[in-house]
Amino acid sequence: MEKLQSTNLIFEISKSGRRCHTLPPSGVPAAKLDSRFQRVAPPPLPEVAELDLVRHFTNLSSRNMAIDCNFYPLGSCTMKYNPKRHERLVAFPGFAGLHPLQPDCTIQGMLAILYETQLFLTEIAGLHACSLQPAAGAQGELTALLVAAAYFKHRGENRTRVLVPDSAHGTNPASAAIAGFDSVTIKSGEDGLVELADLESKLDERTAVFMITNPNTLGLFDNQILEITRKVHEKGALVYLDGANMNAILGITRPGDFGADMMHYNVHKTFTGPHGAGGPGSGPIAVRDMLEPFLPAPMVVKDSAGVFSLKHDMPLSIGRVRSFFGNVGVIVRGWLYLRTLGPNGVRQVSEQAVLNANYLLALLKGHIEVPRGDTCMHEFVASARLLRREKRISAMDIAKRLLDKGYHSPTVYFPMVVAEALMIEPTETESQETLDQFAGTLISILAEDADLLHNAPHDLTISRPDEVAATKQPVLRWKSA
Ligand SMILES: *Cc1c(COP(=O)(O)O)cnc(C)c1O
Repeated sequence: MEKLQSTNLIFEISKSGRRCHTLPPSGVPAAKLDSRFQRVAPPPLPEVAELDLVRHFTNLSSRNMAIDCNFYPLGSCTMKYNPKRHERLVAFPGFAGLHPLQPDCTIQGMLAILYETQLFLTEIAGLHACSLQPAAGAQGELTALLVAAAYFKHRGENRTRVLVPDSAHGTNPASAAIAGFDSVTIKSGEDGLVELADLESKLDERTAVFMITNPNTLGLFDNQILEITRKVHEKGALVYLDGANMNAILGITRPGDFGADMMHYNVHKTFTGPHGAGGPGSGPIAVRDMLEPFLPAPMVVKDSAGVFSLKHDMPLSIGRVRSFFGNVGVIVRGWLYLRTLGPNGVRQVSEQAVLNANYLLALLKGHIEVPRGDTCMHEFVASARLLRREKRISAMDIAKRLLDKGYHSPTVYFPMVVAEALMIEPTETESQETLDQFAGTLISILAEDADLLHNAPHDLTISRPDEVAATKQPVLRWKSA
């Protein structure tokens, strides 16, 4: 089939002299530009007519998989629906027109929203204080680990290690390293949960923090959590909860109640900040009382007269991690979401997310191996290990073929503790019909010819780019021949 859309770059459709606009003749006399500022030749900008320009970019935009167009079960990334109402409200001039250097007395409404968001996130965490500054989950991890480092330094304790389970998101060990700690891997047992014996053998007075994702990336709630947090605390270390994806436990259990001392949220995953393709994000952290003095300054505070202001006087603070108040546009969307849902609605989100994931798991279980998949939390991890051995069908083949069928692929080859992993997170915003259709499509793909799958996708402009080269040697700039 002939491809409907051209793959030309805009430079390649350029024709000398074409323009998108016509300007009236200038009535202003030409000024002489100092030769220091003159280029020898003008930059090689593309020259195209307006219609060609519009078609070019509109066609490009339609090549994306997007949550507004496609089911997008990308495990751990939580591609739930982002309400359009949030976009309209956050664009109100009262929000969008603010300048971060305005005096506090002129931005009381915004400060009230930020203050209330701090309270909500503190409450959902079951902890004592919250900083909205970090601009992503990974930056939240780093910020919390810097807070932990400052806390131990203040106590005169020299703790150099951060323990991280092997099923953790790659940002966990990376954040530990950037915060100046040695990252030590803790094994998962056969059941996919933290192997207690391995944790105990590595836990000692050198340990600063144990980072845990619970429910973990296998979609399993680690029911040893109380024992784990007790053991970590016995050694004087802190427990960090990776709460990027809180969708299974909102309003059901609180990290602070099961022993976490600090955590981060991903507002862009759990609380409907639109995301993908690199941001913007928001990764607030919540901490227990003894860590509060070390949080990034400033914090939003409210005095007894109900006036909001920024508290800069925090002598033990680790300082700023982000300019101004963080990614305020994303935080406001999260606030709108929480205000819309209220406490019961927030709990319902998790109940529905867990129900949807278990429904999909039940539909797929007899057709593809799900190693620890009796039941799951908000996501589950299938494995193409047997399919690969018996039919030469890999996780990548399935992921690529799903694109032909109009679905974004699940997360593949993560977590690394499962061979040929396909990590599936339907989220709470999908209907039963969508889940039925997706399951039917995935099952029909498993019956397809392996050779057909090896070359999928067949119906898209690009089939299988060289992903390693694209990562290691990205070509981001067009150069004229
Ligand atoms: C997405 C994610 C992160 C990192 O969040 P970013 O905002 O992408 O930096 C950390 N941990 C888990 C479990 C995640 O899913």
